Amino acid sequence: MTTTLIQKGRLIDPATHRDETVDILITDGVITAVGSGLAVPPGTAVVPMEGRIVAPGFIDIHVHLREPGYEHKETIETGTRSAAYGGFTAVCCMPNTNPAIDDESLVTFVMSQAKRVNGGIVDVYPIASVSKGREGKTLSPIAELVSAGAVGLSDDGAPVFDAKVMRRALEYASMYGVPVMQHCEIPELAKGGVMNEGFVSTELGLPGIPGIAEEIMIARDLLLAEYTGSRYHVCHMSTARSVELVREAKRKGIRVTCEVTPHHFTLTDDAVRSFDTNTKMNPPLRTAEDVEAVIAGLQDGTIDVIATDHAPHSLDEKEVDYLQAPFGIVGLETAIGLTVSMLVEKGRLNLMQMVEKFSTNPRRIIGRPVEVKPGAPACLTFFDPSAEWTVKTSDFRSKSKNSPFEGRTLRGRAVGIYNNGTLLQY
Ligand SMILES: [Zn+2]
Ligand SMILES: [Zn+2]
Repeated sequence: MTTTLIQKGRLIDPATHRDETVDILITDGVITAVGSGLAVPPGTAVVPMEGRIVAPGFIDIHVHLREPGYEHKETIETGTRSAAYGGFTAVCCMPNTNPAIDDESLVTFVMSQAKRVNGGIVDVYPIASVSKGREGKTLSPIAELVSAGAVGLSDDGAPVFDAKVMRRALEYASMYGVPVMQHCEIPELAKGGVMNEGFVSTELGLPGIPGIAEEIMIARDLLLAEYTGSRYHVCHMSTARSVELVREAKRKGIRVTCEVTPHHFTLTDDAVRSFDTNTKMNPPLRTAEDVEAVIAGLQDGTIDVIATDHAPHSLDEKEVDYLQAPFGIVGLETAIGLTVSMLVEKGRLNLMQMVEKFSTNPRRIIGRPVEVKPGAPACLTFFDPSAEWTVKTSDFRSKSKNSPFEGRTLRGRAVGIYNNGTLLQY
């Protein structure tokens, strides 16, 4: 029997509206007591947490683990290690692997691989592809995928473009209780673009991706979601108009949720002036006005989730001309720091809202809630909101280092996680 006491941490749990200093006693992975000044049974490992936040385990519902098929960028082992050191007890992995996660054997492979690596400390919940091979034509076997463990459906990397396929996907997904998570993009409008279409792209002479490429797809899908009564989730929302569309849809009672990435509330298209290919992502970095709008969306609850869209690429893939470079950056190990620095420290979001967007809301969306109470399995994230540190990509646990935040000083950092009976402190 192993007993651990998490001592004097500041528990922030949006599910129960708790914000208080407590001790948490854990025996063999299960919480046995929560309270202040708990007695320490003999043989207990005491973990002091004074000044630190203790939260229900963080989850990143938008991660590219790249396995199978692109193991030179990331593997389930390196990706979940990166997650663990970023403060996440769970991730959802996107199905744009090779082959795509479009049948139950692949869902099973990903989940069993996740249990084998890093002592299984990070839960991996696969998101399966909407369509076979992510080709947008025929639906994947949704019932089988969900019963094997898939928690959502997406063709991420590409949109589900065909409206009929999207309609059917929404109907089936709703029968099996999972959301359809859309990469919102009208391919004809986005094609050839490498950055936000606007003033900066004109100055730099780079082909742009207009905001409407995202907004038109969201508008169509919201109508389909309303028509089918199904749950619809917008991935990596990036423009002011997109926020407005979702806000209005929520007001009407349409079952929509959405996420934003830390880079979309931290950087603008101005960063592209550096021609650093680590500023190239899809959707692209937008304008200061868009950044303000997504922050307002986080504040008023229009945006439910902060997710990283962790997209590892190797150095030689990114060290090419801006036009040729692949889209995407790694995000797991900078998410907490960027959120505390850009939102909490600036008084834009409080810690309760932050925990809601990293744990309570995303877990509700995929149906994997955690509770912090006696009898519940201990699944916890520990972070220090006042820790100051400088991003050094060479220290990343991820196999890839493609981050635009190298050298940036941040406030707020994970100090450990507890999950599946294992404590990791760093
Ligand atoms: Zn995407
Ligand atoms: Zn993605």
